[in-house]
Amino acid sequence: MAKAKTWIEPHSSGIYVKPADLWIDPSRPVERAAVTHGHADHARSGHGSVFATPETLAIMALRYGVDVEASHNQAFEYGDGFERGGVRFSFHPAGHVLGSAQILMEYQGERIVVTGDYKRRSDPTCAPFEVVPCDIFVTEATFGLPVFRHPPTGDEIAKLIGAVRAEPDRSVLVGAYALGKAQRVIAELRGAGWHAPIYIHGALEKMCQLYAVHGVDLGELRLVSETDKTEMAGQIVLAPPSALNDRWSRRLPDPVTAMASGWMRVRQRARQRMVELPLVISDHADWDELTTTISEVNPKESWITHGSEDGLLRWCELHQRKARALHLVGRDLEEEA
Ligand SMILES: [Zn+2]
Ligand SMILES: [Zn+2]
Repeated sequence: MAKAKTWIEPHSSGIYVKPADLWIDPSRPVERAAVTHGHADHARSGHGSVFATPETLAIMALRYGVDVEASHNQAFEYGDGFERGGVRFSFHPAGHVLGSAQILMEYQGERIVVTGDYKRRSDPTCAPFEVVPCDIFVTEATFGLPVFRHPPTGDEIAKLIGAVRAEPDRSVLVGAYALGKAQRVIAELRGAGWHAPIYIHGALEKMCQLYAVHGVDLGELRLVSETDKTEMAGQIVLAPPSALNDRWSRRLPDPVTAMASGWMRVRQRARQRMVELPLVISDHADWDELTTTISEVNPKESWITHGSEDGLLRWCELHQRKARALHLVGRDLEEEA
């Protein structure tokens, strides 16, 4: 049995690292927190000290009022880290959103990696996932069922551009989460040659600015609130998903409703949200990415959390890989898939 079970404890409120008296992604305020990335099911306000990448700290400052300048909060570039209570912590790219990191812990010759959320396919807005060899791999499993296979991102972006061109009198309104997905859709559009201004809901403005400050070029963005309705015909508009079927969308010329999410793979979900143009673009690993990653990392044991744990657990068993499901409760999967 791995001795990890003596120094690291999965709790419903996060992962506790005993010798360091530190929590990873705690959902309640604690004395010391190492945070994988800025989404609300991993990051929050109220911790004594926060250890994270500079981008994640900046995101936490913007969203949760964390004081980046305070000396008790510390930023670490990818590859860097700190030591506490004999545990060496370091941050490694997770490929999920800007600043997202896997956290590697080394203690008495044993290596544990906590992935936070991750994906394997390319994303112009963040550093690519790095395979970090370890004894215990704590992996997310948001899309841990074989039914979840995300199509190539380029195909979905081409679908979006095709839809705008097909209806020059209408706008296409894309629902995209404010942290990560919105900026990725914009950057992917730019990469596909869409150079026209992209119109955004006010709720996306600050995060887009933060990405730009960190070197992610999003091209020209215009606020819907400062634009004439007619100007947005034949154009792409982005808004948080909550605005899709809201009064707000009346500002747009007869919008075609689209949504960018891994859940759009499930037709019923698209129908529930009255989405005409589902775009399967996800910031989480799909089934193949999850299983490939476990094979590549090749840990002695995988701990599965955050999603369809049983599907991935079954796969591990079938492939003679030691694994356990953590069944942490209280984690919201819908937020940012
Ligand atoms: Zn996330
Ligand atoms: Zn998450």
